Amino acid sequence: MLSNADSKVMLITGTRPEIIKLYPLMRLFDTENIDYTFVHTGQHHDFNLFLNFIKEFKIKNPNYTIQLENPTDPIQQFSEILKGVGNALKQFKTSSIITVGDTNSVAAASIAGTKSKIPVIHIEAGLRSYDWRMPEEYNRRMTDHISDVLFAPTIESAMILTKEQVQGKVYTVGNTVLDAVRLCLQTPNENKFAGYGNENITVNMDINGKLNEYILLTLHREENVDNPDILKRIFSALSHLDVNCIFPVHPRTLKRIHQYGLGHYIGKNIKIIDPVGYHDFLRLLRNCRFIITDSGGIQEEITSPFINKRALIFRDSTERRESIISGHSILCTLDYFAMIEAIKRILSSQPISIKSPYGDGYAAEKIVDILKKEPIIPLARKAISEYIQI
Ligand code: UDP
Repeated sequence: MLSNADSKVMLITGTRPEIIKLYPLMRLFDTENIDYTFVHTGQHHDFNLFLNFIKEFKIKNPNYTIQLENPTDPIQQFSEILKGVGNALKQFKTSSIITVGDTNSVAAASIAGTKSKIPVIHIEAGLRSYDWRMPEEYNRRMTDHISDVLFAPTIESAMILTKEQVQGKVYTVGNTVLDAVRLCLQTPNENKFAGYGNENITVNMDINGKLNEYILLTLHREENVDNPDILKRIFSALSHLDVNCIFPVHPRTLKRIHQYGLGHYIGKNIKIIDPVGYHDFLRLLRNCRFIITDSGGIQEEITSPFINKRALIFRDSTERRESIISGHSILCTLDYFAMIEAIKRILSSQPISIKSPYGDGYAAEKIVDILKKEPIIPLARKAISEYIQI
């Protein structure tokens, strides 16, 4: 499954969270001299969402990058990634492909792998929101059902896969994002941040003045930011609070703020900054009072023993129920009064110290061990009789 003299494992990324979640694996491959091909689909292509992370994590530049001609049109984007990964698979002799998460890049790359008869390994398998408004829910299900090996982060996600009768082999290993947090924060020396990320972050935190007295805000989900009423309601609720929000704004969200004429909400207690690098973001996470977000990855990161913070999730549903059950995350309906009430409640609560449901921060080690040992038979080579359920 991993690299050998004839062919190499191919790691595929498309967006910021995928680079963050594959970074621990890339680092381990480097340490163990496991050569790999790195393909980037170009779904996120700008400096703040992609290149900055390559620089910061000191990982190699992609061996192959797809130049998307229509990155914003979902059908064009999906077909260009499918074709691009297919071309990369023709160019590089590949033993298996590894994807992580639930983006269009993950689904399209996995289909390209299957069509090229290359085993597909899916990390972060088995997450389900059961919310069909989310494009990610389709991507997760498509990918899980065509993958040969599925690495579930928790027992709950592994059980979902078993119940859905996926055909690949399922392993529970934890989430590699906890590895990424550990790798960046385990040395308790803040100076290690020097030289990383956006210099302005310090300036912005100084403007904010008092560490520990801001809410960290991120918003980028299509269901929220592409809806002018919802976006306006969120800013309106936040601007009525007597607390600062630091808002590293996703390019998609910034575009919508301008497009919907919501710029007047920014600048009072809501302070916009450019998206920041990973070390800077972890520093913002660690120092904030709590987080308001619609992000998936952040629901996991806050459970790391190096962070241990609460988050208010501005969504109706989540595929990360473990973070709710552990007490780190709270779902909040996007009703104006519900948002204000929930924020006030968290502001008056005590700090938490709760064990993470997403493993021990060594998921990458477990994944590599399994892939080294197990002779995994790709679905395309299995006999049909193996699938017959009694
Ligand atoms: N993140 C970052 N800089 C930022 C905002 C977020 O490094 O300015 C990281 C964050 O720590 C998390 C990931 O980006 O690991 C989340 O990405 P996003 O919310 O875009 O995607 P999702 O997790 O919802 O798929």
